Amino acid sequence: MAVIVQKYGGTSVGSVERIEHVAEKVISYRKQGHQVIVVVSAMSGETDRLLGLARAVQGDYPTGPELDVLLSTGEQVTIALLAMALNQRGCKAISRTGPQLGIKTDSAFNKARITDMDAAGIKALLAQDQVIVVAGFQGLDDDGNITTLGRGGSDTTAVAIAAAITADECQIFTDVDGVYTTDPRVEPNARRLEKITFEEMLEMASLGSKVLQIRAVEFAGKYKVPLRVLSSFKEGEGTLITTEENQMEEAKIAGIAFNRDEAKLSVKGVPDQPGIAAKILGPISSANIEVDMIVQNVAWDNTANFTFTVHRNDYNRALEVLQNTAKQLGASDVNGDTSIVKVSLIGVGMRSHAGIASEMFDCLAQESINIRMISTSEIKISVVVDEKYLELAVRCLHEKFDLADSIKEE
Ligand code: ASP
Ligand code: MG
Repeated sequence: MAVIVQKYGGTSVGSVERIEHVAEKVISYRKQGHQVIVVVSAMSGETDRLLGLARAVQGDYPTGPELDVLLSTGEQVTIALLAMALNQRGCKAISRTGPQLGIKTDSAFNKARITDMDAAGIKALLAQDQVIVVAGFQGLDDDGNITTLGRGGSDTTAVAIAAAITADECQIFTDVDGVYTTDPRVEPNARRLEKITFEEMLEMASLGSKVLQIRAVEFAGKYKVPLRVLSSFKEGEGTLITTEENQMEEAKIAGIAFNRDEAKLSVKGVPDQPGIAAKILGPISSANIEVDMIVQNVAWDNTANFTFTVHRNDYNRALEVLQNTAKQLGASDVNGDTSIVKVSLIGVGMRSHAGIASEMFDCLAQESINIRMISTSEIKISVVVDEKYLELAVRCLHEKFDLADSIKEE
């Protein structure tokens, strides 16, 4: 007998029929003798609908404690319906909101972090031999306010519960059947990975592969919670996210992630002096704009060029801020480009294999893809290329590093 935490996302509980399907699945795990805690998201589209209502009242960027009161209701609908469906089928179940379950968070409304939970209380409910159906994405701060954990936060609820009660596995059921070497919509030969390390998954998630909330992966890595991504609709083993020691496959590269949401800004001819980077990026971060890659070239004539990338949604604001700074610094020119993308090769195997970067650049060169920016870490190499080359870049790299599914070839 194992203790399993399962999480079902919005599409998996998107209608009454689907909720009933989830109930059947949960019952099949119960019949195998497992104890199950189920965390659910709001029905698909519901959180967006609630956000729309908030926008209608508060304007474009709704925020604050009342937004969390509103958003947390989406999940409350699902837990009630799922608990009903389970009870209806003779499987004892009880629904619990985050606050009811004693999930404590800080007070960062709309993006709160879980700080603590009542593990003893959860275990006591489990001991009554029932399924606990938990509303994901929410908790309570020290002042008794309802908080929510940010988009995709139900993943984090599930992982945090699994960590708190040292569950045997945390299973994230979603509409894909695992983590793939890259997005199959771009590369049809993409392969489902049997295993991936927490670190690799973190990179995949933060670089634009949207299977799991990043915080959930961080949490699982920190507390070593075995995490599995599986499909709600298709039988299969899914992908196990685990520690490096458990990673048997000796692959150099786990996968290729990409991000279409990038934009690039450059300022030319700034004086090559101490403090310039701070002067350029300070106002950007004061405007709450996150910067991703940064490149400053070597100056030949006592001036330097400085380039960085931001989220495409922040581009217009970033450009305005940069134009101001440029004026103050007497820079010669500011320009930007919104038709760029970032493509990244990810793999813990890079630590022990030299020369992967040059293999990557070689591969792109053979397709005449110009690399605009490069950044690297111990387990990742990212390049910025023109948007029109995204598909080509992903496919040629997928082929070059032998990521394709050999069984799939028919
Ligand atoms: N319902 C929330 C969202 O749509 C949380 C979640 O589904 O994980 O982002
Ligand atoms: Mg999700």
